[in-house]
Amino acid sequence: MPSTTRGTVPGPRPCPHCGRVLAPLTADLCGREAFAGWEPCGCPGAQAARAEWEAERDRADNAARIASWERRLEASGIPPRYREASHPWAPRLAERIAAGDGLYLHGPNGTGKTTLACAAALICMRNGMGVRFAVATKLLDELREFGQDQRGLLESLAACDLLVVDDLGKEGAATPRAAEKLFDLFNDRYNSQTLAHPRPVLVTSNFPRGNVAARVSQGGAGVAIASRLKEMTEAVEMGGEDWRKSC
Ligand SMILES: [Zn+2]
Repeated sequence: MPSTTRGTVPGPRPCPHCGRVLAPLTADLCGREAFAGWEPCGCPGAQAARAEWEAERDRADNAARIASWERRLEASGIPPRYREASHPWAPRLAERIAAGDGLYLHGPNGTGKTTLACAAALICMRNGMGVRFAVATKLLDELREFGQDQRGLLESLAACDLLVVDDLGKEGAATPRAAEKLFDLFNDRYNSQTLAHPRPVLVTSNFPRGNVAARVSQGGAGVAIASRLKEMTEAVEMGGEDWRKSC
């Protein structure tokens, strides 16, 4: 028969608020009787102290949650001005993304493409997805070089749950080499997706998918990117009142 040994359990102590004598509480810890605090006192002073302690604990939990969210936002690359973005279509877009669908938002300037993309990405993040946001021109610029930094960047953009590429085709043709690397990035995500882990992309552009090829690169990489995006995304035209689809 297992015997219970008594650990170091202190004696009773008076409540610091009303003086009532409070018995020590114990818990069985693998056959050992362990001290687990004193019985709670029901006096108003003790109740107020407990409420204050709980409020302090909640404040600390909340601060830790906010700090963790801030770190995730910073790591995502979502620009500060879009970190509280909202858009009426965002919940629907986020649902599609969670189901693994890629989307290509296109339309003229001022139609809220980036706002919508960020609002949807934020919902995805709150639901636990890992998100990376990259401005296309800056990304293509970085991909001109190829060193350890670029390899790390490409690996992290290829592996995240959702990749947002903003403003594809804006600055005109990139160098063929950079465009090839952008194609490789989309292609990596396309080839590594599984039902359990889809790797959707969310692209925004001023241009419809059919016109984006020459805007990205004059070489074959632009055509390859446009063709891959056609397989990976559904086009959504912005600027109308409805969710209109077009190729
Ligand atoms: Zn008391």
